Amino acid sequence: MFEVAVLETFAAGHSLRNYKGACENIHGHNYRVEIVFAGEQLDETGLLVDFIDVRDVLRQAIAYLDHQFINDRPPFDVLNPSAENMAKYFHDEMRKGMQAGMMKVPVRIQSVKVWETDTCTAVYRP
Ligand SMILES: [Zn+2]
Repeated sequence: MFEVAVLETFAAGHSLRNYKGACENIHGHNYRVEIVFAGEQLDETGLLVDFIDVRDVLRQAIAYLDHQFINDRPPFDVLNPSAENMAKYFHDEMRKGMQAGMMKVPVRIQSVKVWETDTCTAVYRP
């Protein structure tokens, strides 16, 4: 089994609804997002996925939230912008962005991890 990961960072603000504590107030995070891909075969170049292709998809998903108030950006105008829900969002955006021609061998998204701080993370595994 091979695993490949891409990691990007961005800054944004949010507040948690239905939450009693500091995180119900508007505040910001320097988020980190890591998407791990897995598969058993490599292509003729020896790659599982092309970093450049998947990084572009991740960067587009991030550009939508970067330096924004996340609660204003659908689906987070309804869905609470927790690290858990954001991990699922990045998974869904990556799935949509992985075009048929992009993957030359069978690849699946193994996990998506979102860091809100250096010590607090949430993982979504499809
Ligand atoms: Zn927060």
